[in-house]
Amino acid sequence: MFVDIHTHLSDNQSIIKIVDEFSEKILRTKGIHPWKVDDFNLSQISQISQNWTTTGFSSLKRTVSADMVWGIGEVGLDKVHKETFEKQVEVFEEMIRLSESYRKPVIVHCVRAYSEIIEIRKKTKATMPWVIHGFNSSVETMRQLLKYDIYISLGEILYHNENQAVKILKDIPLERLFLETDVSGRDIKDVYEKAASLLGCEIEVLCKQIFENYGRLETTH
Ligand SMILES: [Zn+2]
Repeated sequence: MFVDIHTHLSDNQSIIKIVDEFSEKILRTKGIHPWKVDDFNLSQISQISQNWTTTGFSSLKRTVSADMVWGIGEVGLDKVHKETFEKQVEVFEEMIRLSESYRKPVIVHCVRAYSEIIEIRKKTKATMPWVIHGFNSSVETMRQLLKYDIYISLGEILYHNENQAVKILKDIPLERLFLETDVSGRDIKDVYEKAASLLGCEIEVLCKQIFENYGRLETTH
């Protein structure tokens, strides 16, 4: 079983995909991407969340619905888009409030704003699991995130910064690791193979552990 903790459908919808030899399960996540915050004003955001309440989460009550929303994402902070940073913070905090009140895990997009992400986790006293997707920073930053119970998901770094990826992989407890394809178009099985080869372990070890990690996110529902 391969868990792809963050990828997209062709219409750009952010999803989690669980794949085995015979089947594929798709779990939808909803949020406002930090690149898109300017398309919304804050009153619209509360409208959106009302919308989620009626068409998303509340219809979730154990029945599978087309509108079912499994988690919040991708949401977060991106300092490459400095001009909207303040607004990004406001929107992200709103998303965290939603995650806490509906008990949904969060898929976090973070570029050069790791300390702000940690600050918000502290400030909001968030208890739901957060997964930093596409992590691409130092081992020190990774350790900080781990301290605050945050999960780390790796994807392209495994291919583009192997040395850094090896350091991170060797240092990260496997029970806090996820793997992803995001927009790369790669096969999630190849990403697992790559991580296993960098770690020098069997791919089955990763499959088993990451599926267990996913199970931990699932139990928050
Ligand atoms: Zn993405």
